[in-house]
Amino acid sequence: MKGITILGSTGSIGVSTLDVVARHPERFRVVALTAHRNAERLAEQCRRFRPDWAVMVDEAAAAELRDRLAVMGDAMPRILSGADALATVAALDDVEYVMAAIVGAAGLMSSLAAARAGKHLLLANKEALVVAGALLMDAAKDNGATLLPIDSEHNAIFQCLPPMRDRGLPEAGVDRILLTASGGPFRDADPEALAAVTPDQACAHPNWSMGRKISVDSATMMNKGLEIIEACWLFDTRPQRIQVVVHRQSVIHSMVQYNDGSVLAQLGNPDMRTPIAHALGWPERIESGVAPLDLFEVARLDFEPPAPDRFPCLRLAYRAAAEGGTAPVVLNASNEIAVAAFLDGRIGFTDIARVVEDSMDLLPAEPVDLSGLDHVLSVDAAARQTAEQRIAAMVA
Ligand code: NAD
Ligand code: MG
Repeated sequence: MKGITILGSTGSIGVSTLDVVARHPERFRVVALTAHRNAERLAEQCRRFRPDWAVMVDEAAAAELRDRLAVMGDAMPRILSGADALATVAALDDVEYVMAAIVGAAGLMSSLAAARAGKHLLLANKEALVVAGALLMDAAKDNGATLLPIDSEHNAIFQCLPPMRDRGLPEAGVDRILLTASGGPFRDADPEALAAVTPDQACAHPNWSMGRKISVDSATMMNKGLEIIEACWLFDTRPQRIQVVVHRQSVIHSMVQYNDGSVLAQLGNPDMRTPIAHALGWPERIESGVAPLDLFEVARLDFEPPAPDRFPCLRLAYRAAAEGGTAPVVLNASNEIAVAAFLDGRIGFTDIARVVEDSMDLLPAEPVDLSGLDHVLSVDAAARQTAEQRIAAMVA
C-alpha cells in the first residue's frame, strides 16, 4: 500500500487523480489532501477518501472545513492551514507519492519539499519547473526522488524516450523532441478579433477540460511556451532540439525523433487520467478509466507549424528560454498576474502578452545559482508588482 499526498486535490488534475486512485484501493492510501479555499469540495473528498491530513491554505476556509467535517468524529483528518502546511504534508514519512497539482508558482515550495524528501514526485505543476528548474531537478537528484511528468506532452515524451536517456539525448540517438500543441480555441480566429474575446471564450478549449489559468495559457499558447522550458529541464535539453507541432486533434500527445529516422509517438484520447495512471503505476501499467482510442473515429491526424506572430506569448517564452536565469521567473510571474487580470475582466486578451513583454523589458534577466531560491522568490515578487503596475497604467 502506497501513501499519497495530493496537492491541489480540488482542481482539475486533483479530481482526475482521485478518480484513478479510487480504481486501485489495494494500491494507494490517501494520506493528505490540500486545497486553496474550496472547503465544500475538500470536505466531500475527505469524507470519501478519509485522509489523515487536510490542508486549507486559507484560514477562514480551514475553519469552515472543520465545521463541515465535525460529523466524522474520530475519523476527522488533522486540519492545517497556511502555505507552509503544503510542504509539511508533501514530506510526511508515510507518504511515498506526491501529486503536485497546484496551479502557478504557488506550488513551488511544496513541489520542492517533495523532491527534497526523496518522494515519487508526480509533477503537473509546470510553473515550478519554469521558475526553479535547476533547483528542483537538483533537489530530486540529490535526494533520490523520482520525477514523473504529468503534463500530457512530457508524459508522452517520457514514454517515447529510450531507457538509456540518462547518458544524454544525443548519445541515446535522439535528434529532436516533437512537442505537440492543439493551438487552442483561437488557432483559426482572425487576429483582429482577439482583442474582444471573453474569459469564457478563452476557456472553451476544443479538446481538453482544464482549470481556467491553464485554459487561458492554451489560448495564448503561453502554455506551449512554458512547456518548452519544462521539457528543457525534464529532459536536459535545449529549445533548439524541441520542435512545436500544431496537431489539432490532440490524439498524439508528443513524439521523439531518432537519428535512424524513427519517430515514436504516444497516442490516446485527450484525458489526463492516462498520464496520471501512467505515473501512478510506473513502471507497471494500471487501468485509468479512459475509453480506448478509436482510430476509425479519429480518422485523420493533421500537423502544421505554429504561427509565433499570431501567438506573441510563444515568442516571449522562446525569448525567456534563450535569456535564461531569472527571465523565465519574470515570464511566469507576469503571466500569472496578467491572466488573473484578464479572467477578472480588468484587461483584454491581447493585453496579456503586452504585460508580459513590458515586465520582461523592465526586469532584465539575471543569472541564478543553485542556492538561489531566495533570489528566485524575490524576482517572482518584483515581477508580480511590475505586472500589476503595468495593468494599473493600462486600465487608468
Ligand atoms: P485548477 O485551477 O483546476 O486547480 C488548482 C488547484 O490548486 C486547486 O486544488 C486549488 O485549490 C489549488 N490552488 C490554487 N491556488 C493555490 C494557492 N495559492 N496555494 C495552494 N493551492 C492553490 O488547475 P489544474 O487545471 O488542475 O492545473 C493544476 C496544474 O497542473 C497547473 O500547473 C497546470 O498547468 C497543470 N496541468 C493541468 C492540466 C489539466 O488538464 N488541467 C494539464 C497539464 C498540466
Ligand atoms: Mg500540456
